[in-house]
Amino acid sequence: MVGKKIDPAALELIKYPDPRLRKKSVQVKDFDDWLAQVARRMFDVMYASRGIGLAAPQVGLNIRMFVCNETAKPDPQHERVFVNPVLSDLANAEEGEEGCLSLPAIYGPVVRATCCRIQAFDLAGQPIDLRSEDLMVRIWQHETDHLDGVLHIDRFGEAARLGARRALRELEDAFQTKTKKKTLAR
Ligand code: ZN
Repeated sequence: MVGKKIDPAALELIKYPDPRLRKKSVQVKDFDDWLAQVARRMFDVMYASRGIGLAAPQVGLNIRMFVCNETAKPDPQHERVFVNPVLSDLANAEEGEEGCLSLPAIYGPVVRATCCRIQAFDLAGQPIDLRSEDLMVRIWQHETDHLDGVLHIDRFGEAARLGARRALRELEDAFQTKTKKKTLAR
């Protein structure tokens, strides 16, 4: 029921430190037209920022859904929607550079499993059960983290964390300014 009344067309990318990025998202119960419209909007928002994955909290909706397309090019053939995803059989670990649309310009090495299984539902409520050993696996882990309020910076090592400090402060300042403006406009 979360965000049920929100017009999908009004959804926009939100950025750190927006508190909605830190919330634990709730399970999707209704596989309805609204959900499909939200997913469609998420793809558009993702493509506009040249991303390869986007989780619902990144458009301010705390529901367990993410979309991805590892090609970053609008092409329905490569589009995937995962609702209520659960990862298992995570194996191997590899460090790889990661970024996040909600934390622009902040990249750093994150250790992730290189193979895993994902069980989820598609927009029609049909079960999905996949295994992968490629880039998808990193995307799945990054996006599933978002649904638990976890950001890639939380998985940075000490050096990357220090390196990101200034950019994080700039995002914090920008968010404060934006919030202040909104309050004044009311
Ligand atoms: Zn992200």
